[in-house]
Amino acid sequence: MTDAADAADTAATAATADTADTAGTADTGRGARAERERAAPAGAPAEELRAGAGLAGPWLDLVATARRTAAAGLVVGTSGNVSVRVGDLVLVTPSGVPYDRLGPGDTVAVRLDGTQVLGTLTPTSELPMHLAVYRTTGARAVVHTHAVHATAVSTLVTELPLVHYMTAALGGPVRVAPYETYGTDALAERMLEALDGRTGCLLQNHGAVTHGASLDQAYDRTAQLEWMCRLWLTAASVPGRTPSLLSPEEIGRVAEKLSGYGQRPEDTRG
Ligand SMILES: [Zn+2]
Repeated sequence: MTDAADAADTAATAATADTADTAGTADTGRGARAERERAAPAGAPAEELRAGAGLAGPWLDLVATARRTAAAGLVVGTSGNVSVRVGDLVLVTPSGVPYDRLGPGDTVAVRLDGTQVLGTLTPTSELPMHLAVYRTTGARAVVHTHAVHATAVSTLVTELPLVHYMTAALGGPVRVAPYETYGTDALAERMLEALDGRTGCLLQNHGAVTHGASLDQAYDRTAQLEWMCRLWLTAASVPGRTPSLLSPEEIGRVAEKLSGYGQRPEDTRG
């Protein structure tokens, strides 16, 4: 293993160490990474980026985030994918390569039209979903997993029942995009419809997608969504009982409260 690969492993280890603390909470407090993302060269010329300038940090952050999804049990094997936007480019996990084998030299970058401009590995087959999000929203990062509770819920309902007020942190009731074959533009279109006004959705018989202003935020939303799906399944599985649900009006009130308070973690834990 090269020194550089060691460095990537170290970064990933540090990132996975706090997984237990952050999975299922609204914690967004990993400052160093967020700091580096803000320092990324938004709008930098593609020629400069093609040479790799400014991409090393975001790539390591992306690999660390992908490894967090595996360490937290949100993906099995190579079944999920993660991307981050840097200027006019999108860095994305490659297809079929376990996250623990990804090193600093494996950067995969594409333009918003899908043209690959950096890397020899093939981008994830779910690239159309990632690009659709970046083309239509201001998102800087996207996390897609086949997390078991989210996927289970996607087979049962067309919308996650309002079992908890943290639904508001995803923009409102979480919709389920109707099934389409993986990797297709049709799936990307159904996903965009389900994401309208939301930062997360479920994909029927497939998994979940969230986006955010940073890799940490997109990851936290995935963890939060998985937790809410698990919560509903747990409550709904008690024989002879039906979970109480919140009204859409209450979710709206919470959304206002969250935005008013800048979504600081202490405000979302009450
Ligand atoms: Zn998938």
